[in-house]
Amino acid sequence: MTVAIMLKSKGPDIISVAPRETIASAVALLAKMKIGAVVVCGPDGELIGILSERDIVRGLGEHGTDVMGHTVESLMTANVKTCTVHDTADGLMQRMTEGRFRHMPVLDDNGKLAGVISIGDVVKRRISQLESETEAMREYISGHG
Ligand code: AMP
Repeated sequence: MTVAIMLKSKGPDIISVAPRETIASAVALLAKMKIGAVVVCGPDGELIGILSERDIVRGLGEHGTDVMGHTVESLMTANVKTCTVHDTADGLMQRMTEGRFRHMPVLDDNGKLAGVISIGDVVKRRISQLESETEAMREYISGHG
């Protein structure tokens, strides 16, 4: 299962914020869209960071509620690990588990942002794949009984 196939069924929506937006507006966006992280993009749509709910919790721990007025770039992770549309679901799961993060921006062949895959997307696909394999195995066994 490739990332390209996962993105196709998920749709092309990329929810992003600008680096100078406030944490309060990023929090409002995360809540409205029911997601756990947003990519941070520059003026030409280029990927410059990722901000997850975990960064916001850390900011709240360090600065209290004042952090709501801080900028996104002050809390985001700038060293973003990305994948390509050709990577596999299994490869992503391994990288996310080892790196201890749950979101992975996807770049197309031109290095342009093509989407974001979360660990939830990967697990969902993996479960449905396992279910299909189990069903095929059951049919095979009952046909040879
Ligand atoms: P998450 O588990 O994705 O909510 O994020 C946990 C931490 O990893 C946060 O500090 C995020 O900013 C960071 N993070 C999330 N996704 C990535 C990524 N693809 N590359 C690098 N850091 C990330």
